Amino acid sequence: MTGDSLIDAQKAPLVLVADDDFSVRLQVRAALEKAGFVVAEAAGGEEALALFAQQRPEMVLLDVLMPGIDGFETCRRLRRLPGGSDLPVVMITGLDDYESIHHAFEAGATDFIAKPINWAILGYRVRYILRSGRILSALKKNQQRLAQAQSIARLGHWERDLASGGFAFFSENPAGFGLCDPCHFEALFANILPEDRAQAQKTIEEACRGERPFSINYRVRLAGGKERIIHNQGEIVLDEVRQCRSMVGTVQDITEIKKAEEQIRYLASYDQLTGLANRALLREFWMEAKAQSLITGTKVAVLCLDLDHFKRINDTLGHAVGDAALKIITARLKSVLRQSASISFSGMEASSYILSRLGGDEFAILVYGIKSQEDIPELAYQIMQNVDRPLMIVNHRIVMSTSLGISVFPEDGDDIDILLKNADIALFEAKQKGRNTFRFFRQEMNEAVKAKFELANSLQNALENGEFVLYYQPQFSVRNGRLNSMEALIRWRHPEWGLVPPGRFIPFAEESGFIYQINLWVLEEACRQAQEWVGKGLLDGFLMGVNLSGRNLDLRLLKNSLHGILERTGLDPRRLELELTENVMMENPQESVAVLNELRADGISIAIDDFGTGHSSLSHLQTFPLNTLKIDRSFVQNLEKGRKNVDLLYSIVGIAKSFGLKVVAEGVETEEQLKVVRRSRVDDLQGFLFSPPIPPEEMEQALISKRFEVS
Ligand code: C2E
Ligand code: CA
Ligand code: CA
Repeated sequence: MTGDSLIDAQKAPLVLVADDDFSVRLQVRAALEKAGFVVAEAAGGEEALALFAQQRPEMVLLDVLMPGIDGFETCRRLRRLPGGSDLPVVMITGLDDYESIHHAFEAGATDFIAKPINWAILGYRVRYILRSGRILSALKKNQQRLAQAQSIARLGHWERDLASGGFAFFSENPAGFGLCDPCHFEALFANILPEDRAQAQKTIEEACRGERPFSINYRVRLAGGKERIIHNQGEIVLDEVRQCRSMVGTVQDITEIKKAEEQIRYLASYDQLTGLANRALLREFWMEAKAQSLITGTKVAVLCLDLDHFKRINDTLGHAVGDAALKIITARLKSVLRQSASISFSGMEASSYILSRLGGDEFAILVYGIKSQEDIPELAYQIMQNVDRPLMIVNHRIVMSTSLGISVFPEDGDDIDILLKNADIALFEAKQKGRNTFRFFRQEMNEAVKAKFELANSLQNALENGEFVLYYQPQFSVRNGRLNSMEALIRWRHPEWGLVPPGRFIPFAEESGFIYQINLWVLEEACRQAQEWVGKGLLDGFLMGVNLSGRNLDLRLLKNSLHGILERTGLDPRRLELELTENVMMENPQESVAVLNELRADGISIAIDDFGTGHSSLSHLQTFPLNTLKIDRSFVQNLEKGRKNVDLLYSIVGIAKSFGLKVVAEGVETEEQLKVVRRSRVDDLQGFLFSPPIPPEEMEQALISKRFEVS
């Protein structure tokens, strides 16, 4: 901004002249107006103050001697008015009136003009004064802005004369960011925490001597005892002859930034719910544990634990209760570990532990300083016993148990990820062995689990790539030999393994929960296929049997999905039969009865499958709302083994019929079996003797050619 542009702003500047002498005012006005100013006049101090407040002139000319308050007093009062502090105020004094000139300065005048006034140059004088006034106020504004910005950034700046070694602060208000006030660099040093002081001083002195830039952090303690973290940077400034004479730098209060960083680190390292270390932090601790173990020749145990049936607590009592349970378990684990580490483990010399939560109901513990692997089971038992104790959460008595898998460094791996994975494999094994138990990792486990993981992955792919197909096995009426029903049986066309029978993957799918998706897929595909054949006029008055299975099979959930499937495929629900085993129904008998009743009300048939295996109970035939009883093929195949079996078959069929059930004999392979079964009042027959399960194309051909129809 140039001086002229400051003056020659669009509006002509307003200048206020206060003088009791009318003729002086007149002359001043004439001179200033000629120079392009607008002039306001006041005959005394009070009037000048009032006019200033009203019109806000850019400059004021004050006569010293006026009736009422004089020029000095007027100047002093002007300074106190809003907008008056930076106003150029010029006193008109007598030529040799040194005392007035002195007084004018004291009263805060900007400048003075001595009488007699040189009218020819008055306009220029006023212009000059006005220009420097404007520059000054612009400068002041900039300074204010800088100070503001610095205060927001909690930043101060300093300069050091390298020759004298003297430091000076140039920040307006270094105290604003928590330093001393007034602030010299030495004072800052005095406040640096003793632990950080020597290093800070050394760094800065060396940088000054070596004429190098520096950048350090240190902590200071303030008068109130508060600690702040300061970031101090400096660099060399070269003078005109490229000599370094000084160093300039900034100090910044980075306490909040550091706090935020710490918070971020905390979030990244600790589990929010329990405050335990998370997997990332566990990895860091591992490095330490491993190093210590190598030095002392001790072992590190990695214990993975998982609360049995925790999901059920979450699902039935809600997440709040689940979270509370996790916190209590955390506290118990801590106390077990604390005690074990200090007292009960004779074999552990100065052992330590890290407890961490890996997610959900999964915890991992690193125990280091273990002399012998034999000490670990005791710890495992103590953990299990403590988790076992019932807990009360808002009137809910909860009993939990835990399974543990253990791997040991160096035997089972020398990397935390491998140790965790192996402990996890052992955990899986422990769960298989009926929960609330622990297992040490053994290399053989690895192979078995690897195969299972592979299978789980392949199953997911199979569903996504459409590798599943349904085969259909017909069932015939004993009475007239007609095709009455067919059963949909899943096959897996694996790109490498070929056609995989269900026995090879259904049990695993049931175990892993994957069966849920398979159930839905089979239902949808069987309904779609059945409706297609109905549409082609190939089928009517028949049943399509679909096998449903799974641990904790949620029939209600399935029923809801089933509605959508029937709607999408358009299949008449009376054409659908669901085949369930006793085990599935017995998992939650009351709920099963309710849902099965609803399904039947929709027209869907229910068959009890695999009857005659396991603990078949005839009373179940009455308990559950059923339409069909399917006698298992193993039972049928045992018929030839003796008269007793045949009698049993007869009585089962008799009882089933008395409950109004249709009875199907599965797995009829031989004419012998057929003969026996026929005599038993069984309704339908299914088995290799008539047809194996066949792919849909073949079934369609058979239906078109009426191959299954008796003439
Ligand atoms: P299941 O429900 O008892 O199915 C009947 C099984 O007996 C079928 O075996 C069928 O091929 C076989 N079978 C039929 N007639 C004879 C015979 O005369 N002799 C002999 N030895 N076997 C015969 P598959 O298809 O291998 O299915 C085995 C089991 O896998 C089924 O037993 C069922 O429990 C399960 N499964 C099959 N498909 C599905 C499905 O889509 N979903 C579910 N959840 N399970 C299925
Ligand atoms: Ca079946
Ligand atoms: Ca069966």
